[in-house]
Amino acid sequence: MAKNTNNRIPVKWIRDKAKAAYQKQEYCYICGTTEDLELHHLHSITLLLNRWAERKQYDISTDDGILAVRDEFIAEHRVELYDLVYTLCNRHHVALHGVYGKTPAPGSEDRQKNWIEKQKAKAEGRTTETSSAGLFSKFL
Ligand SMILES: [Zn+2]
Ligand SMILES: [Zn+2]
Repeated sequence: MAKNTNNRIPVKWIRDKAKAAYQKQEYCYICGTTEDLELHHLHSITLLLNRWAERKQYDISTDDGILAVRDEFIAEHRVELYDLVYTLCNRHHVALHGVYGKTPAPGSEDRQKNWIEKQKAKAEGRTTETSSAGLFSKFL
């Protein structure tokens, strides 16, 4: 049985590399604060990585194992890593994971998006009711 030489959890290697290529926004998408900003992926990168490695039968249980396939994983998951992301302040990031869990379930991406938009509307002092009233008034 091979000794587990893993020093870090595999997804950390992905985050390190992906972070270097991603430009975080300068403010929280929801409230606009510029303090304590964090990146939220709609897709749990941990889940994506584990499923992908399993499908490809890659052993990512060691540092060498994950490093050997890291670029391939990133190349195949550009959308999830770089497009389906939100810059949030720590407060809103924690709140989101409070609702959707530490590792949001696959398939909850649209619900997360709706939640984010709803919080944004709230933070901006508008509600969905007033915005639809505004829309209707154009036609009166
Ligand atoms: Zn915020
Ligand atoms: Zn997150």
